[in-house]
Amino acid sequence: MTTSSGNPGFLFCLSGAWSGAMSKDSSDLFGALFEAAPAKSMMSRTVPVLVPMPAPRAYSYAVPEGLAVEPGSVVQVPLGPRQVIGVVWDGEDDGGVDPKKLRPISHVFDCPPLGKHMRDFIDWVAAYTLSPPGLVARMALRAPAAFDPEPMIEGLRFIGGQPERLTPARAKVMEIAADGLSWTRTGLAHAAGVSTSVIDGLIAQGIFETIFLPPPPVVAKPDPEFTASRLQGPQKDAADEILADVRKGEFAVSLIDGVTGSGKTEVYFEAIAETLRRGKQVLILLPEIALTASFLERFQDRFGAKPAEWHSDLAPRMREKVWRQAVTGEVRVVAGARSALFLPFEDLGLIIVDEEHDPAYKQEDRVYYNARDMAVVRGRIGDFPVVLVSATPSVESQVNGQSGRYTTIHLPTRFGDAALPDLHLIDMRRHAPERGGFLSPVMIRAIGKTVAKGEQALLFLNRRGYAPLTLCRVCGHRFQCPQCSSWLVEHRFRNQIQCHQCGYAERTPEACPECGTLDHLVACGPGVERIAEEVERHFPEARTIVLSSDIMGGVKRLRLELDAIAKGEADIVIGTQLVAKGHNFPLMTLVGIVDADLGLANGDPRAAERTFQLLSQVTGRAGRTGLKSHGLLQTYQPQHPVMQAIVSGDASAFYEREISERERAILPPFGRLASIIVSADTRQDAETHARGMRNAAPQVSGISVLGPAEAPIALVRGRHRFRLLVHGRRNSDMQGFLRAMLAQSPKERGSVQVQLDIDPQSFL
Ligand code: ADP
Ligand code: ZN
Repeated sequence: MTTSSGNPGFLFCLSGAWSGAMSKDSSDLFGALFEAAPAKSMMSRTVPVLVPMPAPRAYSYAVPEGLAVEPGSVVQVPLGPRQVIGVVWDGEDDGGVDPKKLRPISHVFDCPPLGKHMRDFIDWVAAYTLSPPGLVARMALRAPAAFDPEPMIEGLRFIGGQPERLTPARAKVMEIAADGLSWTRTGLAHAAGVSTSVIDGLIAQGIFETIFLPPPPVVAKPDPEFTASRLQGPQKDAADEILADVRKGEFAVSLIDGVTGSGKTEVYFEAIAETLRRGKQVLILLPEIALTASFLERFQDRFGAKPAEWHSDLAPRMREKVWRQAVTGEVRVVAGARSALFLPFEDLGLIIVDEEHDPAYKQEDRVYYNARDMAVVRGRIGDFPVVLVSATPSVESQVNGQSGRYTTIHLPTRFGDAALPDLHLIDMRRHAPERGGFLSPVMIRAIGKTVAKGEQALLFLNRRGYAPLTLCRVCGHRFQCPQCSSWLVEHRFRNQIQCHQCGYAERTPEACPECGTLDHLVACGPGVERIAEEVERHFPEARTIVLSSDIMGGVKRLRLELDAIAKGEADIVIGTQLVAKGHNFPLMTLVGIVDADLGLANGDPRAAERTFQLLSQVTGRAGRTGLKSHGLLQTYQPQHPVMQAIVSGDASAFYEREISERERAILPPFGRLASIIVSADTRQDAETHARGMRNAAPQVSGISVLGPAEAPIALVRGRHRFRLLVHGRRNSDMQGFLRAMLAQSPKERGSVQVQLDIDPQSFL
């Protein structure tokens, strides 16, 4: 039985060698990878079924007489003592197994089968990420209650006749229902402006018949002609280029590289319109969908209906409906977080990846994958266009653009009279904050001026809570998480100290647990809450809002706060990276970066790129509606290339430098990385196992293994962690290497766990 599609690392390396296999001229090789499996006739006695668990392959099941299944059918099968959901998979069975000895499929759901492209995609992702295919399939089957059709809903229809007593309310209902169309009970009551008891009275008199209606769609159908395109100048040229790809309806990747406010969204809306005209479905990936209410509204303004949403905050019932209606084709456009990539659309024809550089696209849990890269794979397998969008594209995508794999489309200026903010560095060595403060007098003056004009200021600091470290002034004791190697972060609003690794929290103590001294604990360094305190000291009259992901009241409250800011109901906003993404605040004219150096400190090879992206993104929140705007960056390293690149506005110089450094160091996309994290209950078990794996590495030229070394975050939730980093040249067969290494590695015993991360983003 085959469940994995060969060796994708050899054929196609996303971050590195895009080997010829993905290009059209060597489609043979690629074609071989996806050759259609021989069709299973309905008479077949056994079929492979992939179950959503960490099984390495599909299992064989017998097909009971009279049960019709085909590859992709969603079924229920016995597994051990349980019944589980599974999908009939492609490929031959083990053969030789007597069907009589196999357990039979228990049930076939009344659900369109997962298409061939979807199944190939699942196999591909499994093989690329070295994950069990069942775990990948599980991501596509995230709405178990949706496998059977949604129940019909009860409705009524007027069949004629007269009630005994014709009250005005009854007359009104009958007038509306007279056309014989179907209504729901509450819908009709609402339309007639009467209570449902009036309807019930009429039903009792036999004037209506009961009928069953199909459940309503989660969203109305978007209409590509709802408003006309209003693109101008370079936007038009950009759209034309993408539309050419959309009309061809073949695999092609475009990268829209345009400054914030240049109209990138407007441009890709035209690609969506064209795809809808062609009768295909569209997926828009957004890094922080739960927070992008304004995006949904904007989409509605253009298309007359909202897209369906898909993200982890969706209510379970809604989740089921969206899943079902994406599979049946009723939903035409989904806007979602990375997990939406695994929705089994009926006929997907375009994927947009907005803010394609965003680290939120990387999932680091069970199946480690990058949704941006896998979106490109899905486009290749389904043979449709993919559009990547960013004001600060990833180095990987830039390089793919330069080499011609992607078509890069530039939008270098903001739309209309909106200008980009004027950016300046504040040299903190020369303009130091007053004692106990974190804001330079230069920053405070600028905030004062902005607020005085009735405009808004945003202060950005990527640190939740009040202070990242608390210590005792008497004995020097530092508060550390009991189960992680990380400091406890003080959250003064909640009166807690918390671990940001594992969520451990305790009440902020009054005495030092080490020496017992009362009231001698000091908060070290700032978090957003502490900056808010400083701001309130300087501007007691101003309306301030603190925004971070741990805000009480969750996503709902966040959406309200963001709305309030957009409406001008706040003067000063203090926020974490949450405020960096996509929001449009018309009155925001000052963005102050509290600690521009923060992201540069760690040893991450992408630190410079990340810092550049984040700071560009945040400062880009200012001045989107034409008001003159400023960005101020507090830094202790004003000469740092990232700082210089940002204030000079010369992004291309920054990318050139970054790209040549990566090339020199053979780092992605010029080389390949995979990381292996070994964790265990004891440090020794983790280290011993990691060493065993290291010794199991085959000798291959062009691939080397670094480590094991204790991870920078050595302890998480009581588990000790060691890391191995596998580094390969661009064309190396990373997956093949890792498979061989795993096969030779010692068995994972006791508490030992091994996690593979291909193209890692995190090195902690
Ligand atoms: P980006 O996605 O590049 O940040 P947007 O598409 O959000 O840019 O456009 C920025 C602002 O300019 C939005 O408010 C948008 O409505 C407006 N805008 C952009 N292009 C046009 C256009 N051609 N006609 C009218 N308004 C536009
Ligand atoms: Zn912890």
